Amino acid sequence: MISVAIDGPAGAGKSTVAREAAQRLGYVYVDTGAMYRAIGLYICRLGKRTDVKQDVLPYLKDIKIEIKYIKGEGQRIYLNGEDVSEKIREPEISMAASNVSAMGEVRDFLFELQRSTARENNVVMDGRDIGTVVLPNAQVKIFLTAQLEERARRRWIEMKNKGQEADFNEVLEDVRQRDYNDTNRKVAPLKQADDAVLVDTTGYDFEQSVQLVMDTVEGRLKNVL
Ligand code: C5P
Repeated sequence: MISVAIDGPAGAGKSTVAREAAQRLGYVYVDTGAMYRAIGLYICRLGKRTDVKQDVLPYLKDIKIEIKYIKGEGQRIYLNGEDVSEKIREPEISMAASNVSAMGEVRDFLFELQRSTARENNVVMDGRDIGTVVLPNAQVKIFLTAQLEERARRRWIEMKNKGQEADFNEVLEDVRQRDYNDTNRKVAPLKQADDAVLVDTTGYDFEQSVQLVMDTVEGRLKNVL
């Protein structure tokens, strides 16, 4: 099986670029951020705090996360049987996901689902620790990034297009805070794997970003296949 690991900070365009690259390669796209978001959503719905272990860990046993692939629609994510693919994109769920993802027990809980998906399929998997922790033997590793302001601007435009209220400075602050949390946490912090290729999409549009990623994947696969 072939694994393409794509890691990087919030708003780097990982999920849209990774989804399109997976489509072109004919691989399964796995959005691991969606899994952390589903757990964040579950805890928020309970009215508990997502940044306190005692409020999160006792409930993991009640959570079942499944990913289903629907032709033409791609990945859908299910939380205890409910399709939450849209609900997990609400802005407050981003920080909830970032909070729960700092807990080692939450990461362990999702680890096997992520690993088994890659054992059974050719995947493009995106996240923060895919190349470093989840799939250290991935044949292709990419660290996808862009300058902070550009990432915030992309997120802001995406939210506006969805009809969500968004103040640019708040979005910028949210992205900055999540970068900080993800980079500085003790377990599986966001960092570029030693053998990852750095792809910086600052100033590139979507198609150019996809092309950069595809060129990197094809270049790497030529050497390993
Ligand atoms: O990628 P996305 O923004 O959907 O991820 C939401 C949050 O989940 C991130 O801010 C990060 O804290 C966490 N995450 C993680 N490890 C992953 C994927 C996401 O810690 N592999």
